[in-house]
Amino acid sequence: LSELLLKRRAEILHALCSSGSAEHLERVMDMLLAQGELGWEDCQNVLVPGRALYSNARQLLDLVYTKGADSCELFFSAVKQVLPEALGDAFFLSGCHSTLDYTEKPQRTSTEELLSQRPDLVLKLQGCIDGALRALVESGHFSSTDCDGIQLPIYTPSQQARRLLDLVRSKGESASLAVLQFVQQSLESESSLEQTNPNLTNEFVKYQKKLKSSVSAQSRFLSTYGGTSHMPLDDIYTEVQMELPSNSSDNYKSMSFEEIIGPVGTVNDDADTVLASGEAGSGKSTWLQRLHLLWAQGKALQDFLLLFPFSCRRLNSEQRDLSVQELLFQHCCWPDRGQEEIFQFILDHPHLVLFTFDGLDELKQSFADEQRICCPSQRAPVHVLLFNLIQGSLMKGVRKVVTSRPEAVGPALKKHLHKEIHLKGFSPSGIDCFVRKHHSDPNEAAKVLESLQANTALLGLCHSPVLCWIVSQCHKELLGCGEGSLQTITDVYLMILQHFFQHHSTVKSPIGVNWLQDNLGTVLHLGQLAFEGISNSSYIFSVTDMETCGVTESDICMGFLIQSKDMSLANSKCYEFLHITLQCFLAALFAILSRNSGCSAISKLFELQEMKKKRLRGTCFGACLNSTNTPNIAEEHSTMAETPNLQITATFVSGLLSQRYQKLLFQCSSSILVERKTKHAEKCLSKGMQQHFRSIPQPVQGEKKSMHAMPEFVWLIKCIYEMQNSRLAKDAMSKLEAEHLKLTYCNIGPVECTALAYVLQHLKNPVGIQLDNNSVGDVGVEQLLPCMHICSSLYLRNNNITDEGIRKLIDKVIHLQNFQKIALFNNRLTDACTKHFSYLLKTRQNFLSLRLGNNNITAKGAKQLAEGLKFNHSLQYLGLWGNKIGDEGAEALANALQNSESIVWLSLVGNGVGSAGACAISNIIKNSTSLEDLWLTENCITRTGVESLTQALKHNHHVKSVW
Ligand code: ADP
Repeated sequence: LSELLLKRRAEILHALCSSGSAEHLERVMDMLLAQGELGWEDCQNVLVPGRALYSNARQLLDLVYTKGADSCELFFSAVKQVLPEALGDAFFLSGCHSTLDYTEKPQRTSTEELLSQRPDLVLKLQGCIDGALRALVESGHFSSTDCDGIQLPIYTPSQQARRLLDLVRSKGESASLAVLQFVQQSLESESSLEQTNPNLTNEFVKYQKKLKSSVSAQSRFLSTYGGTSHMPLDDIYTEVQMELPSNSSDNYKSMSFEEIIGPVGTVNDDADTVLASGEAGSGKSTWLQRLHLLWAQGKALQDFLLLFPFSCRRLNSEQRDLSVQELLFQHCCWPDRGQEEIFQFILDHPHLVLFTFDGLDELKQSFADEQRICCPSQRAPVHVLLFNLIQGSLMKGVRKVVTSRPEAVGPALKKHLHKEIHLKGFSPSGIDCFVRKHHSDPNEAAKVLESLQANTALLGLCHSPVLCWIVSQCHKELLGCGEGSLQTITDVYLMILQHFFQHHSTVKSPIGVNWLQDNLGTVLHLGQLAFEGISNSSYIFSVTDMETCGVTESDICMGFLIQSKDMSLANSKCYEFLHITLQCFLAALFAILSRNSGCSAISKLFELQEMKKKRLRGTCFGACLNSTNTPNIAEEHSTMAETPNLQITATFVSGLLSQRYQKLLFQCSSSILVERKTKHAEKCLSKGMQQHFRSIPQPVQGEKKSMHAMPEFVWLIKCIYEMQNSRLAKDAMSKLEAEHLKLTYCNIGPVECTALAYVLQHLKNPVGIQLDNNSVGDVGVEQLLPCMHICSSLYLRNNNITDEGIRKLIDKVIHLQNFQKIALFNNRLTDACTKHFSYLLKTRQNFLSLRLGNNNITAKGAKQLAEGLKFNHSLQYLGLWGNKIGDEGAEALANALQNSESIVWLSLVGNGVGSAGACAISNIIKNSTSLEDLWLTENCITRTGVESLTQALKHNHHVKSVW
C-alpha cells in the first residue's frame, strides 16, 4: 500500500485538491485523527495556514507514507469515504479493503468521544454553529471572543465546526460534554420536527440549513457600520418602542416577534401582511434584521421553516420579469438540488413560510392593486409580483412582514394588512441602554449620558436610533463642544460629517475651522451623487453613476458610502449611503454649496404640496439643477419615498442656512449666493405657513376658531426651528388667529415638540394645544414647557407620559394663569402624579378641567387629589374614567366635593366603585350647587347605592343626568 501511495501520488493529490477547497483534505484528516492515526501535532504540521493547499496535501502523503502500511491503508479508506468516485473502484480494489469504523470502541471520556466522532460531529455542527456557540456561552465554557474567533467570515461552516471542536478540546472535559449534549438535543429536536412535518425530505432540510446560514451571515452585523467597523447585532441591538394602533392599551412596550406575527391587534384576519411603519431612522431595517437573525439562530419564529428576506431597494435594480420561484431562489438562496420539490413544499405549506420586504417606500413603484397574478409560475415585473404577494393573490397563506415609512402606506395597501405596528424609536431607558452598549468603556458611556441629560433638545433627538447612533459615534466631538451647543438635527449631522473627515485626516491634530472648505471636493462630489439620487429615487449607485459625479476612490474612503449587497449587480461594485438621512444631508449641502444650483432648487424643495397637486413630482425637481449631468427623469416616474426625502432634505437646507453657519458656508461658496438662498428659503417657509393659516375655516357659532394642522405644518415648523430664526417664527405666529390648534395624529415626538415650542411661544394670544395620539413622552413634555405661557388647555391623550413628565409640567404651569385645562387620557400615570395635581388644584383658583381617564390611579391617588380639591373653588370637570379608585377613593372625592360650587361634570366610570362609594357620592348630589352630570357606569353599585343616589336626587335641582 505504501508503494501504491507513491505510484499514484499525483492522482491522489489531484483528487484531494483540484476543487480548490480544503474540504476534502480536512475531512480525510478528521478521519485519521478520529482513528488515532494522526495526532494533533501531525495536524499542525500538515494544515499550515497560508500555505498552498497542494503543499499541505503533499505533507500529509509524506507523513502517512513514513508511518507505514497500516497508516496507508487507513488513509485510503478515508479517501474512499470522502471521495467515493474520485479514484475509481479499480483503484481501491487494487489493494485497499478496510473501511473505517469509529463507533465500536468504548470511550472513557467526553473528550475522547469528541475525537473519535469528529467526522460525524463536523457534519452535524456545521448547520448549527450559532446554536452550539450559544450553548457553550450559556454554559460558561466560551467567551464572546471565542465565538468571534470561530465565526470569522473567512471560514467555511465545516471549518468553523472544526475550530469549535478544537477549542472545546482545549477547554476540557465539561466543555466536551456540553457539545455532545447539544448535538444530541438538536438531533432529537430535528427528529421531532420531522415527525410533525413528515414531508421534510433530505433535500429540504439541506436547503433550510443553507438558507439559515445565509440569512445569519447577512444579518449578524449591523450593516451601517460596514464602512468603519463590524458591530455584531447581538451586541448592539436595543429594543425599540412599538405602538399597535388597534390595541392602545399595550402601547410602547416592545413586542416579541411571535406577538407581532400572532393574533394581538389583528385588523383583517384574511390578510397575510404585517406592516411595521416608522420614520426614516426609526430603526425599521435594524428591527427586521433582528427578526432575520433570531430566526436563523433558532431563537424566534421557529414555526416558520423557511424565511425569505428581500430589500425593496435592491429589488429596484431587477430588470427582468421573474416568477415567484425565480424571485425566491435567485434573490435569496439557491437550492443546490431539488428546486422543484422545495418549491412544491412552499406551495403546499404556505403557513410554514415567511417573506420579509424591507423598505417598501423605496420601491420605485407605488403600491397598486391593479394587475392580478395568481399563478406562481407566471413571470412578471418584480414590483407586480411583490404587490400580488402582499395582497395575497399570490402565495396566499404565506405570512409577509413589510417595513415602510408611513407616507407610503395608502388606503389601497391598508386594505390588505393583517395588522400594522408603528416603530417609535428608543424610549429614554432605551437611549441609556444603547449608549452603554455602544461604549465598551463605562466611564465614556456615563459621560455621554450626562451630556445628554444636560441638553434635553439633544436627548429628544436621540429617541431616533439613527441620531442616537451618530451621537454615540461622535462622543469625542460631543464632549468637546460644550453643553447645549447641539440643538438641531443639522447640528448633529454636521458633527458626523466633521467626525468622518477627522477620522480620515492624515493630520492627527484636531480638525481646523476650515474643515468644510478643506473637504469641499468630497462634499460636492458626494453631494451631487446624493442630490441626483434623491431627485431620481435612486439609493444604489453604480461605478458609472459615481464617475459622472466625480466621486473618487478617496471620497469613497471617507466612509459615507458603503458597498451595497445588490444581488443582481453581483459582478459590478455598487454603493449606497450609510443611511438615507445622510444622503439627504449631503444633498442639502450640495443644493446650497453648488454654484450651479440656484434658488429654484430651494423653492422646489419647499413647494412640495404644489408639486403634488400639479402631479409634477420628480420631473421638475431634477430640472432645477442647471448641472449638465442631471439625468432625465421619466414623466411617469414617481416614488413613495420621494416626498419625505425631499422634506428631510429641505429641513437640512433650512438648518444649514441658519445664521450660525453663514461663516462656514461663506468659506465654501459665494456669500452673495448663500445670502440669496437664505432669503429665498425664508420666503418659502413664511409663504408655506401662510397657506396653512388661510385654510383655517371660519368658526361655527359658539365654537372656537380652530386650525387642524396637517403633517406638512409640523414639517414647516421644524424647518423654522432648524433655521433657529426667531424673527421668522414671530412673524409667522403674528398671523395665526386660531384659538385652538389641533395636531392630533401628526407623529409628534420630542423633536417636534422642541420645534413647536420654539415657534408657538411667539403667539400673541393663548391657544388650546391638542396633541392627542402622538408620541410626546416625558421628554416631549419638557420640550413643550417654553410655550406653556400661551397655552390655555393642553390635550395629551395617549402620549406615553409618566408621572415624571407631569412633575415637570406642573412645576412650570403652576405659575401660568392662562393654563386652565389638561386632558391626559390613556397615559402611564400612577398615584405618584396626584400629589402634583393636588398642589396645582390648591394653588390655582382658576383651573377648570382635569381629565385623567384610563391611567393607573388607585384609592391612594384619589385621596391625594381630594386633598387638593378641598381647597379648590374653580374646577368644573373632573374625569377619572377607567382607573381603580374603588369605594375608598370615591368616598374621599365625595368628601372633598360635597359642598362644591364649581364642579359641573364628574366621571368615575369603571373604577370598581360599590354602594359605599355611591352613598358617599350622593352627598355631592345633595349638597353641591353646581353639579350637572354624573357618570358612574361600569362600576359595581348595587341597590343600596342606587337608592341612595335617587334619594339624593329628590332634593336637587341642578343635576341633569346621572348615569
Ligand atoms: P430605518 O430603516 O428606519 O431608516 P435603520 O434601521 O436603518 O432605520 O436605523 C438606522 C441606524 O440606527 C442603524 O444603522 C443603527 O445604527 C441604529 N439602530 C436602529 N435601530 C436600532 C436598534 N434597535 N438597536 C441599535 N441600533 C439601532
